[in-house]
Amino acid sequence: MEGEDACRFRLSDLNRRIDYGTVYVCEYCQVPIGDTNDWSGEHVDDNVVLLKAVSWFVKRGIQVTSDDPEDAGSKYLPLSCRKCDNLLGKFYSFTPTHLNYKLDLYNIDNTVIRGCKLGENLQKKISASETPFTLETCHYYEDEIKKEMVVLEMLQDKLLQLEDDILTPADQSP
Ligand SMILES: [Zn+2]
Repeated sequence: MEGEDACRFRLSDLNRRIDYGTVYVCEYCQVPIGDTNDWSGEHVDDNVVLLKAVSWFVKRGIQVTSDDPEDAGSKYLPLSCRKCDNLLGKFYSFTPTHLNYKLDLYNIDNTVIRGCKLGENLQKKISASETPFTLETCHYYEDEIKKEMVVLEMLQDKLLQLEDDILTPADQSP
């Protein structure tokens, strides 16, 4: 029976993340920055989340060559929030060998983002239907719609990826 168990495929064998379906939002203005679909790792000592892709709300600055002892010699683009201009992290275009794990990835500072479950805060924010419809609330809804569009794009990407996984046969032999 033990042998049989060893051969049995388990869902947990797949390299899945525990917080699958989490969107990272900017801590200051709450716009969506990225999600766990593009998660590539986390570096505890540096307190960064490594993402393969980010949303439109992340602005890439002009390339800098670092003289900081932490990452001296690296070349990176500073990342900031398109809405509130706060710094979010770095995108490394060149790193010394010992920092290769950061290369070509969005290194987002863990202290300036917050993880939200998909769809969790929309209900809380757009529940006040009795709120008078003013220019301010109008701008507010416009902003909310922009944010939700980005989240929707993330969900579509996720769906496409799932479709690919399901429809691509594992056995590629002719
Ligand atoms: Zn922001």
